[in-house]
Parts: sequence; structure tokens; C-alpha cells
Amino acid sequence: MWVFVRSTNLFSPTFQAILSSMNLRITLLLAGLLSFLPSNLAAQDSNRKMQLLGEYGRYRANNDLLHYTLTLRVNPDDASISGDNQVRFRMLADGQRIQLDLAQELSIEKVLYLGQPLKFMREEESFFIDFPRTLKKGTTQTVDVVYSGHPRTAGRFGGMSFEKDAAGKPWVFTACEGNGARVWWPNKDQWRDEPQQGVDLRIAVPNGLMDVSNGRLLGHRNLHNGYTRWDWRVTYPINNYDVALNIADYIHWSDKPLGKLTIDFYAKPEDLDKAKAQFTQARPMLEIFNRKIGEYAFVRDGYKLVQVPYAGMEHQSAIAYGNHFQNSYHNGDWTGVGISPRFDFIIIHESGHEWFGNAITAADPADMWIHEGWCTYSEDIYVEGRWGKSDAIRYINGYKSKVKNEHPIVGHRGIDKDPLDEDQYFKGALFLNTLRSVIDDDTKWYAGIHAYYEHFKYKTILTEDVVAFWNQYTGRNLTPIFNEYLHHAALPKLELKFDDAAGTVQYRWVADEPNFNMAIKAGDPQHWTLLHPTAQWQTTQGNRANFHVAEDLYYINLARL
Ligand SMILES: [Zn+2]
Repeated sequence: MWVFVRSTNLFSPTFQAILSSMNLRITLLLAGLLSFLPSNLAAQDSNRKMQLLGEYGRYRANNDLLHYTLTLRVNPDDASISGDNQVRFRMLADGQRIQLDLAQELSIEKVLYLGQPLKFMREEESFFIDFPRTLKKGTTQTVDVVYSGHPRTAGRFGGMSFEKDAAGKPWVFTACEGNGARVWWPNKDQWRDEPQQGVDLRIAVPNGLMDVSNGRLLGHRNLHNGYTRWDWRVTYPINNYDVALNIADYIHWSDKPLGKLTIDFYAKPEDLDKAKAQFTQARPMLEIFNRKIGEYAFVRDGYKLVQVPYAGMEHQSAIAYGNHFQNSYHNGDWTGVGISPRFDFIIIHESGHEWFGNAITAADPADMWIHEGWCTYSEDIYVEGRWGKSDAIRYINGYKSKVKNEHPIVGHRGIDKDPLDEDQYFKGALFLNTLRSVIDDDTKWYAGIHAYYEHFKYKTILTEDVVAFWNQYTGRNLTPIFNEYLHHAALPKLELKFDDAAGTVQYRWVADEPNFNMAIKAGDPQHWTLLHPTAQWQTTQGNRANFHVAEDLYYINLARL
């Protein structure tokens, strides 16, 4: 996803919720209701909501998603939706109850099982379905959730938006990584379990509009009630938040396939010329990622770029694009070192998520650097593929200005919350550049990325899995290095103490992680020496004027004492 615009973040649903809860408290104070009971109750409510949505609780863990069939009618006139999600799952344990999730503003009309209505209980943004008898472990089951209402319109990444294009025609889209897919459809709204057989989408939209969703277009037909139904089929596991609607008056064209991979584009008629020029960047990007990371994981579903009226989003096999057909990001110099203006940041970044985020997926939002740190690093892989390693090193180091080092990259699990800031993107990518230098063998590094990708694609994983992979791949214990960068806020500090009279320099690490002992290149940049600092002072030759540290290769805090 792409969230790094501060002014917009101020209007995020989370921030609005904080504001409205502050208003509530101030109102209560002014009314003389000094009791803290109401706000405590509110806090408990939100804790319960976060618990239901964040934990992989027993009524989630007792089943394994197989497939969704989402049949939906979208009415832009009154911003309403109505339809049915058929959920197919396999029981992993005997059980009589499962948990699904749906935003409270949408009503559940009924839940059907074998043609019969079932009892269900709603709580916060979750609901529990009770079956009349025990569902046996290993059996495949199907329920239909029939629902309707006016979905939350929360803008970028928060929900489903009903907007108009320049010609006044409806432009309806979903982008819901922030608030979860439950804002517009009922599903098991967590990251750990994806429907491994995919999703069918049958989306009815007013005649004259098109829906572009994920996967392969099976066809469209006039329903003779003012609506046309567009049927799309996803045949791979997919994140709930990646399932997307893009409803507009689109024009469709294709590039020639890349091997078996079809490449399709959708843009507004008024932007067609600009889009046709800008979207030529997709094909060389796909070639580079295929070569340097591994083959695109969703070949059966194809690759698509779809114009949207917001920055962009990595909707699987249907990348949302809204970067105004300009290079860099918002037409500036995104990382500030003269390389970003050479390419369209949104095409490259959001497509990079097909490898890191969609193919390899974090099992908990707290581990989102598995998406965003790796995807930001994929920009660097692209730069290296196009313009070589020295530009790639320059590009990645441009990101240092965006890092805060205020919170650990990996957040708290089980609470349905992303990490607190964007360090997971920029520091995450700079850490991977550091890891490359630790491995110090480019052939081995890229072979490792290939192996990492092939090992984990179509899986949901946690940070421990990433660490275990690289430990095993390198045959080294890299855990203290991963921990230092991912689980502590501060950078490791390399302290240097010079004695120019003696021509010596003392060096040591000051780090939060016990046993942090990353080797680092220092001394003469023409002939780096590999130092092995620890927490204890050691001494080598050098003087203040010409003793350097390879700070472009290792992201550290350097203190020259
Ligand atoms: Zn992203």
C-alpha cells in the first residue's frame, strides 16, 4: 500500500476516531460528568473489537478457508450494495461455531446453510455462526451470508468509495487494507488464512459501466434490469483486502504477453493517451522482477494495471494506479537523489507487492515489513536491474531521510493494527540493503532472494520464518542482526575513538540487542577492511581524517568520539 502522505493521514479513520473520542471526553467533562466510567467502557469496547479482529481465536482457528464466491450488486445512485458471499471452508477440528467479520453499518439479512437459515450473533465488527450440529474435522462446509447496506466511505485505504469521474459518471472503488475488507463484504477478516482456491466475483453494475476486479475476466452479461454482471475468477490464495472492485467507464487494452503472462490495462477515456505512454513501464518492470526475484506468482490470473482516483494499491493481479501518469511520486524527486524521476514509483512499488505482500504474505499486520520493507527493497531491485548497483545503492540511501527510529519495525501482534509509523518501509528496506552487505556476495544475495521467494510464495509467514530462512540459507546466526533492526527502535551505534598521535582508532558497538556483533567494512574506501566490532573496545590503525565506514552499505548510527 502507499500511505506516506502526512496531510492525508490526518484524515484517516483512526485519527478521526481519536478526535471524536477526544470530543466525547471533553463534552463529558463540560457536562460535569467527571466519572471516568464511560470512557473506560468505550475503551473496553474497542479492546474487545480489537481482540475479536486481531486474535486468531478459536472460532477462526477451527477452520481453513478454501474459497469465496462474492455476488454483489452495486448501486452508485444511493451508494448501496446488496449481495451474498458464499464461504467454503474445511473444518480443522470438530466444532459448531465459526467467526466471520462484517462492519456494523452493513446488515446481515440471513445466513444460509444447506438451504436453511442459521442462527448468528453479531458482536462489534465480527459475527458468530452457530450450526445445528457439530461439523466434523476434515469436512468441507459452505455457508452463504446474505447482506446489504451502505458501506463506510472512508477514503484512501479505509473502505468503499462512491465518486464521480470528470464526465460525471460513477467511479466506485474499494481500498481497504487499513480498515479491513469487512467494510464492504463479509469474510474471515484476518491475514493468516487465505482462501487457497481463490475467489469468484460476480459484480452487477449499472449498464455502461465496467467492473475490473482481480483475476481473469470470465465474461459479462446484461441482466436486463439496468445492470450488467461482470464475472471475475481468482485461482490463487489472496488477501481479503486485495479483493477489489473498480467500477467506472474504462477503456481496456493489452500489451503482448510476457511468456504466458497476459498484461492488461484499464484507464479512463480522457486519460487514454497519457496512460498508454506511462503504462509501457509495466512490461520491463515485470521482466526485471521475474529475472531478479522469481517468476510472477499469478500467471493464470494475469497482470493488470487499473486507473483509480487515489495513489495506488497492490490489489492482487489488478494493481490500482493513480499517480497522474507522472514519474517519481507526485512528480517530485521521491528519494531525493535524482533517480526517482526516471520511473513511475506507483507502477513499480505497487507491482513489487505482487512478489512481496501478495505472493509472500505476513500472517499478522504487526509483521507488515514482510510486505512493505521487502517491497520498498524491490524498488531498489528494479533500479539495479535498469541502471546498475551504484545507482541502486544511491537510491536506497535516499530513504534515510524518511526514517524515524522511534518505534521497532515489528509491532504488537494480535490487535489488528499496523506498525506505528513508516519505518517498516524505509528502515525495512535499508535493513535489507544492510543484510546484503552482511552476506557480502551479490550472487549469493540474489540467489537467496530467489530461494526466499520460491520457499514462501503463496504462504503467510511471520518474522521468525524470515529469520530462520536466512539463518539456514547462509549457515550463520543472523538472529541478533535481525532482532536489532526489527525489534528495537534505535539503530546500532558504532563508536569510534581516535588517537591521532598514536595513529589508532578504537571501535565498538553500542546496541540494544545482546550479542549484536555485525561485521562492518571500514578504513580506506578503496580497500575496505572488515572489522568485527563487539560491545568491547578493540583497536585498529587509522586516523580521524581518513578512517571511513561504509555507511551506504550498512545502515548504522556512526559516532566519532
Ligand atoms: Zn506498499
